[in-house]
This record gives sequence, C-alpha cells and structure tokens, in this order.
Amino acid sequence: MNDAALLPLDLIASLGLPAPTSDTSDSPTAPYGVASALRATIQAEGSFGAKFLYACYDYLNKTLFGGALPPAAILWTAPSSPRAYADYITTDDHGIKFRIRMSPSIRQYGPKFVFDVLLHEMIHLVCAHVERDEEHGYRGHGPRFAHWCNTFGCMMKLAEVSPKGRGGKPDCAQWPINVRPAGYYGENDPRVAKQKKTKTQDESAEREPSERKTSKAERYEAAMREALTLLRAGDTQGADAILSAALQG
Ligand SMILES: [Zn+2]
Repeated sequence: MNDAALLPLDLIASLGLPAPTSDTSDSPTAPYGVASALRATIQAEGSFGAKFLYACYDYLNKTLFGGALPPAAILWTAPSSPRAYADYITTDDHGIKFRIRMSPSIRQYGPKFVFDVLLHEMIHLVCAHVERDEEHGYRGHGPRFAHWCNTFGCMMKLAEVSPKGRGGKPDCAQWPINVRPAGYYGENDPRVAKQKKTKTQDESAEREPSERKTSKAERYEAAMREALTLLRAGDTQGADAILSAALQG
C-alpha cells in the first residue's frame, strides 16, 4: 500500500473523474444496495481477509479515483476461469452490480499481490462505470484499459503497458503484476515460482530425452556389436534374438 500512499493527490485530482453519484446511498432499493449491505455485513461479521479487501478498495477509490467509484460487491470466491486471479462483471446473473471475485488461492502470495489484483479489477470497473466501455473486443484489456494502467503506472513509476503487448510493451492484461520489479511480492511471488517451475520443467525436458536417447543409442550399439560377433561366429539365430530385443527395448 506504500506505493499508492506516495501518489501525489493533485495528480489524482487532475484526472477529471466525476464526483460520487447520489445513488450510492445505503438504501436497499438503491442500485448499489447489495454492495452496501454486503459491506455492512462484512464490517460486522466478516473475516480479516474480507475486511482487508474492502479497506483496499476504499483506499484505492479515495487515493486514485477521487472517490468516484460506486460501492462494489467484492467476494473471496473462485472466478469463472480457474487460472484467473480475479474477475469483474458490471451486473451478474443476480443483478448484483460491480461484482469483483477474488480467487482465494492468491492469498498465499501476500497482501501486496492481493492489492495489485484488486487494483487491476478496479480499472475494469472504471472502464465500465466512468468510460462506459468495457472493451469486449479486447476481452476488457483495450486502449482505454491500458490508458488507465499507464496513468497510474506513471505515478507509481511502472513501465508502460499496451493492449495485447503492442509496440513491444508488456500486455496490460497482466498489469500491474507484469511490471512490478522482481522481488516486489517477496518470496511468495508467483512469478518467481513460475520461473522456477519452468526452469525445472525445461531442465528435465532437456535432460530426459537426451538421456533416454543416449542410453537407447548405447543399447543399440552394444546389441549390434554383440550381434556382429555372433554373426562372425555363424550364430545368426543368436544375433537375430539380440537385435530383436534391442529394437523392442
Ligand atoms: Zn483484467
């Protein structure tokens, strides 16, 4: 959270976001009634993890978005895609607005990671609520999305990103995780774990076939030498048996 805390407030004010709308009241009939009720429930009964999400949301809403974002329904629950860290929908099947689902599995990567994932989802919310364009053609990660990433990224001194990684820049679909410096998330950084995994896989992928190839080639060679010796001695049956066994093995 320290990075966001360092953001200059005058820059935030200059972003030109609209002021919070009046329909953010706690009335159960207000458009955001579910989100407000959920927030009140979590405040009273929720776990620390659930409260943490709402605290982050409020913090980011205030410091980055000037309080322009409506109350969101943020849940620790699995997104549609099992590989996704989170997902966002403007209105779900139940009519719940501005729903963000955070995969419980990301908690293992620490609070900074959770914070970044939430920030990413909040940019989807900004595109939907402020820009009124969810960029479905880009699966949500189009030029508008990239623009917001870069606006905040510039404040946080992060490298520029682009839609689909155009112009050789990192893809905004993974912002800000893909532009955070190495070690930023500590020792539980999933990027490090992935690299390690890939390296191990690569090493074993490189090693196994070559080992298998070498030992197979060696077996063939040994079998051929033996078969040749037997053939010279006139034992064609013995040579045949050895070669057959070598070919099957
Ligand atoms: Zn996204």
